[in-house]
Amino acid sequence: MKPAPFDYHAPATLAEAVRLLQQYEDDGIDAKVLAGGQSLMPMLALRVARPEVLIDLRQVAGLTGIREDAGTIVIGAMEPKQLAAESPLVQQKQPLFHAATELVGHRQIRNRGPWAGPLPMPIRPPSIRLWPWCWTWNSRPWVRGASGAFRRKSSS
Ligand SMILES: Cc1cc2nc3c(=O)[nH]c(=O)nc-3n(C[C@H](O)[C@H](O)[C@H](O)COP(=O)(O)OP(=O)(O)OC[C@H]3O[C@@H](n4cnc5c(N)ncnc54)[C@H](O)[C@@H]3O)c2cc1C
Repeated sequence: MKPAPFDYHAPATLAEAVRLLQQYEDDGIDAKVLAGGQSLMPMLALRVARPEVLIDLRQVAGLTGIREDAGTIVIGAMEPKQLAAESPLVQQKQPLFHAATELVGHRQIRNRGPWAGPLPMPIRPPSIRLWPWCWTWNSRPWVRGASGAFRRKSSS
């Protein structure tokens, strides 16, 4: 199977990605974000999902990297899982993160899969193991939208 036709955007900034998403939503057009494609691409190929537009996050500046900010470890949504797990900062401050990430798929999946990829997915089976770990760490995802940015509570 091959995906149904769709329009494709590869914005360079988060502001542009958000603007595109808002514009398509306002126009009643089904637009989906493409991160690593590990779940979305099979769904497109099987035509389980048929968005009219894909907005690819891979060129968006500033969505990778790991840093410490006032005692909090901040991991970019598009940072590959493997790099996040191997980060000396993460290993030093959150050794359980490294242990949990080693349980995600296999190395090829972790090399290509963005760290935050499983978090926004509507279905969270127990096999998506990073999800419960996030609550254990009291992690709070940043969510960016047309009305600005906010941090979700760890339990929502
Ligand atoms: C063989 C295999 C084994 C796996 N094993 C595990 C495992 O054990 N544990 C585990 O936790 N995960 C596992 N995964 C999940 C994998 O690592 C991906 O994170 C997951 O499939 C989501 O794919 P993706 O990150 O490429 O996102 P995509 O497939 O690109 O997107 C999936 C959905 O999330 C949305 N989305 C993704 N990122 C964002 C974002 N930053 N902002 C807004 N929306 C976003 C997309 O719009 C889409 O609806 C496995 C995957 C595979 C293929």
